[in-house]
Amino acid sequence: MVRHMKKITIIKPKWILTVNEQFDLLTESALIIENDIIKSILPVAKLDTVEGLDDAETVTLENHILMPGLINTHTHAAMSLLRGIADDLPLMEWLNNHIWPAETKWVDRQFIQDGVQLTVAEMIRGGTTCLNDMYFFPDIMAKTCQQMGMRATTGLIVLDFPTIWAQSADEYLHKAMAVIDEVKEYPLISTALAPHAPYTVSNKPLEKIAMYSSELDIQVHMHIHETEFEIDEAVKNTGQRPLERLDQLNLLNPNLMAVHMTSLNEMEMERVAETGVNIVHCPESNLKLASGFCPVDALQKLNINVSLGTDGAASNNDLDMFGEMRTAALLSKGVSGDASSCNAQQSLRMATINGAKSLGLSDQIGSLEPGKKADVIAVDFSQLNTQPVYDPVAQLVYATNSMQVSHVWINGEKKVSDYQLTDIDAVEIIKIAQQWQTWISE
Ligand SMILES: [Zn+2]
Repeated sequence: MVRHMKKITIIKPKWILTVNEQFDLLTESALIIENDIIKSILPVAKLDTVEGLDDAETVTLENHILMPGLINTHTHAAMSLLRGIADDLPLMEWLNNHIWPAETKWVDRQFIQDGVQLTVAEMIRGGTTCLNDMYFFPDIMAKTCQQMGMRATTGLIVLDFPTIWAQSADEYLHKAMAVIDEVKEYPLISTALAPHAPYTVSNKPLEKIAMYSSELDIQVHMHIHETEFEIDEAVKNTGQRPLERLDQLNLLNPNLMAVHMTSLNEMEMERVAETGVNIVHCPESNLKLASGFCPVDALQKLNINVSLGTDGAASNNDLDMFGEMRTAALLSKGVSGDASSCNAQQSLRMATINGAKSLGLSDQIGSLEPGKKADVIAVDFSQLNTQPVYDPVAQLVYATNSMQVSHVWINGEKKVSDYQLTDIDAVEIIKIAQQWQTWISE
């Protein structure tokens, strides 16, 4: 019989930010990873008393803070190949005249694989260890993430109209079920049903989605109330605001990840709180497309779970969750007129544990606690822009950039060591992205 060796890593940083319920910030402590799991967090002085650490790898990080990997709860990973293709435009003009035509012309299986690779490499290098995606070919997306060692939820897109992925709402749903089966074998991958938006998916498929979500207990990932224009059009066409329509279709429940939600009246906020809907806030994409403002301060006061996403690289244009945390904190203060709104701790929770809750994965990821999956990152504070350090939490949100991420572990695998990707060939990925740029620009 083969006896499998345990792989043990001991990390000794200056601080450990657990993002547990009490938001404990520890010093003089070590975190032990055993295979894919956080085995324990304990005082460095007690390491001598732990047995079985003889063959462990020890990583000492003298100026670093260890924290949970960041969770990006809304993106379109393959769109990184369209980064910068059309900027400084409002949402519908950007979509109708630039993004949808480019997608029709260029998106195929190879585009998805190459775009996802670029995104995953950028994300892991910058401390993001899990992403929630919505795009065509969710099977390729899932496979590419699994192969690269990235944790992901692949969004099973549904639309009323034909695209390269499917011809009708029924075919999108049929393919969604097939992908759910296919990715069951991938330990790093989860699935979510992903109807694009209220204005692109009609009632019949939405009723089916509500039913499948409840039967299979999987999340529903959808753009909702992205702009005031979307709501006005819906009222004109259906006599209802989109959220009211989704409520009647039984979609408002804790399985729903409602992305954007820039325009909400008080009744809607109360309904969201009452039904346990998760809101995904994408501050930089909303700002760039002048879509409006998600009322994060009011939502947090109602104890609604709000997590963070970058959206695709074509409307952000980076996938940097440190930037997103900072923008979320600053924007909330500006919008609410209250400097204490969306404080550093709340921003950090939005980018970690709240994302895990939104994805239905909070028993596995989102905080550094024994028994959870080892998705762990280290941030190096020994740089000009992060000295001195009075408050490590404020430092992470208001002063740090993703290039200060020095180490990343996903599912216990070391993916970044001393700022370098360990097993992903960034040079090759950049070459491929440049090739796509040449083709698309022609
Ligand atoms: Zn989006």
